[in-house]
Amino acid sequence: PISGSKEKEKTLAMIKPDGLLGNYTERIKDVIVDYGFSILREITTQLDQDSASRFYAEHSSKRFFPSLIKYMTSGPVLVMVLEKENAIADWRTLIGPTDAYKAKITNPNSIRAMCGQDLEKNCVHGSDSRLSAQREISFFFEDVSSAERITTHDEL
Ligand code: ADP
Ligand code: MG
Repeated sequence: PISGSKEKEKTLAMIKPDGLLGNYTERIKDVIVDYGFSILREITTQLDQDSASRFYAEHSSKRFFPSLIKYMTSGPVLVMVLEKENAIADWRTLIGPTDAYKAKITNPNSIRAMCGQDLEKNCVHGSDSRLSAQREISFFFEDVSSAERITTHDEL
């Protein structure tokens, strides 16, 4: 078991273009609900070069960045705010490792094993920390619980 606060926590989940194109949305949402997450908000949107580059700004100097931006802008994405206790770490555990090819071997029950292909096309995203979750949720949803954002900030 992963230790965590009993306070409800929010994280940003995204079904990437390959996940939507492959019609995995309902299967992924079933997993989300089965594991006790509430879907607080959701939006389907098409990222453009600018928004995808800003979302993945931390990777802008990586060799794979141009390919990542091409992938992320290749079709619509479904973005969700998930909430439950320990949501950030639990969602990362549920999606599995970044490399979906490896996930099929080491984490066969993970979401990336189910719908991803390789190190790039891994069908889902999850925030990796409280700070990332806060940044990524406000990136897509300006009006999600500003009071909570202040609380989170005070705890950092
Ligand atoms: P994660 O999504 O597991 O947090 P990262 O933040 O390291 O992984 O990378 C962001 C995304 O960039 C990954 O989900 C994947 O789509 C892509 N990516 C990461 N590393 C590579 C790589 N070495 N080659 C190609 N694409 C990559
Ligand atoms: Mg990441």
